[in-house]
Amino acid sequence: MNKACTYCGRDVHMHTPIFVNEERGGEQTTVGQFCNYACLARYIEEKELETGACCQLDLS
Ligand SMILES: [Zn+2]
Repeated sequence: MNKACTYCGRDVHMHTPIFVNEERGGEQTTVGQFCNYACLARYIEEKELETGACCQLDLS
């Protein structure tokens, strides 16, 4: 099993790993794994995953 952080490539089990799952075709699939929230946050920022998010918040 691949243990490398999706963001930085270090062994996620050296830290407190976070796994990101998505449902694809009715099955939960791990699409990313990160050392901690810092790596996850950086990954999201760099990939701009927040752009065009499906949950459209309308705070007005
Ligand atoms: Zn990492």
